[in-house]
Amino acid sequence: MQVPLLVDDFLRRSVLLYPNKTAVVDGELRFSYAELQARVNRLSHALLSLGVAQGDRVCILSPNSHFFLESFYATSQIGAVLVPLNYRLVAADHEYILNHAGVAVVLVDYEYTDVVDGIRGGLTSVRDFVVAQDAGNAPEGWQDWEALIAGEPDTAPAAIERDENDLVSINYTSGTTARPKGVMMTHRNCYVNAYSLIAHLRVAHDDVELWTLPMFHCNGWGGVYAITGMGGTHVVLRAVDGAEIFRLIEREKVTFACMAPTVLRTILDYPDKHRHNIATRPRFTVAGAPPPAAFIERLEAELGWEFLQIYGLTETAPLLTVSHPDHHTEVQDYQRRSRAGVPGIGVDLKVLDDDDNPVPQDGETVGEVCARSNVVFKGYWEQPEETAEAIRDGYFHTGDLAVWDEFNNIHIVDRKKDVIISGGENISSPDIEDVLYKHPAVLECAVIGVPHERWGETPKALVVQRDGAAATETELIAFCRDQMAHFKCPTSVEFRPELPRTATGKLQKFKLREPYWQGDRRVG
Ligand code: AMP
Repeated sequence: MQVPLLVDDFLRRSVLLYPNKTAVVDGELRFSYAELQARVNRLSHALLSLGVAQGDRVCILSPNSHFFLESFYATSQIGAVLVPLNYRLVAADHEYILNHAGVAVVLVDYEYTDVVDGIRGGLTSVRDFVVAQDAGNAPEGWQDWEALIAGEPDTAPAAIERDENDLVSINYTSGTTARPKGVMMTHRNCYVNAYSLIAHLRVAHDDVELWTLPMFHCNGWGGVYAITGMGGTHVVLRAVDGAEIFRLIEREKVTFACMAPTVLRTILDYPDKHRHNIATRPRFTVAGAPPPAAFIERLEAELGWEFLQIYGLTETAPLLTVSHPDHHTEVQDYQRRSRAGVPGIGVDLKVLDDDDNPVPQDGETVGEVCARSNVVFKGYWEQPEETAEAIRDGYFHTGDLAVWDEFNNIHIVDRKKDVIISGGENISSPDIEDVLYKHPAVLECAVIGVPHERWGETPKALVVQRDGAAATETELIAFCRDQMAHFKCPTSVEFRPELPRTATGKLQKFKLREPYWQGDRRVG
């Protein structure tokens, strides 16, 4: 008999095995697995009382919190579909997404009720507005989460017939030039991704995950399900802050965290990092953008913690490749370790040229990463054309360029849209950033292609300097020319106070390129 893969089974197992173990730590609050399940069940009943039916969309707009974790399980076990919103989007995007997804109920953190009140008049499908806060006093027009669940039973809601291909969430990608697209994730996608994470990142019952990654982002890369399924502990981090991160790692004996490279930088640059007594040697999984090689070196040399790299996308739940420290990889070869990964279990990867033919596995020829797997999403919500464009011949086309080598390592080169084509040569912008990050003055950098009369385009570096540093343009260009082929080196450098990033730490290079191209051929 075939049993459907349903993500809420992850919570049930841990309640059975570890009812009294701490499931979640949020500030001074702690809930055991039994308590977490009771809160989840109450919320499920409350949503049913609000008329949420199977297939209905329920949105959550919140920083990381125990409420957020509860919303994943409360919705999935009643067959509702969670729409986690990226809190960094502007109100107009929230309005677009809520209407596009036809959301019936919004669950909103107390800090974001004003944002939603500002767009209330334009919302076409939302019936109920619920505010998530630990102590009552909901603002006018809002129902209080705690009051809503207080009178509901803590027993499981009546079982309903479900299929593993039912939607568990719709995760909107942050649009660059276009409107956000709703990535439809099924139970099967998330379940298989969680297994893959458990296997490849060695998730176990004694793991304590610090939530350095926003939970809204692609089910926290699977941590919502993997850590819960193994009976580990979630330690919620509401906002990224070096002092708080070190305090929690020490106090809660954190063993595991997932993060974008920018968060790793915050951790590495935290001035008091050596004052903490940390005995757990946490495993840090870094992804979402190419991790600069210098960051891995510092993580290992300065903290002695373990670095793991995964690569993937929201559309792939997300794990596609995972770094694989084996005999082909020199421990010191940080650049390779920051870029290379082997396909995860159950992931069939191809690197295809523009005509969808596989490129040779020579470690040199660049092509697009394409994937076929149970983690590949069902499609974009109500966007069949975009879905057909993304999934062709059974393979999801990622929009990322890579080379693969004879040892089956996929090395990410760049996003297709960000690669710089200078004099017919493809230049990987992360390669140049990697070199710049070795310079002591460089706090942050982004390399983009700008127009060039002779070469078509040429690399330009935008650099944020460390406090007190005063490197010059000539010095940074010379630094690059010392270490890499000259045609790849930036021909100009500009200093900036900050660089635009998404909530998940991705550089928004299209924003940086815009002023230089002004209606010219470069987009995206
Ligand atoms: P998202 O859907 O927001 O998770 O973004 C996915 C994109 O992030 C991918 O298409 C890549 O361009 C980038 N990305 C994710 N992980 C990595 C990684 N390990 N190295 C380089 N780029 C990455």
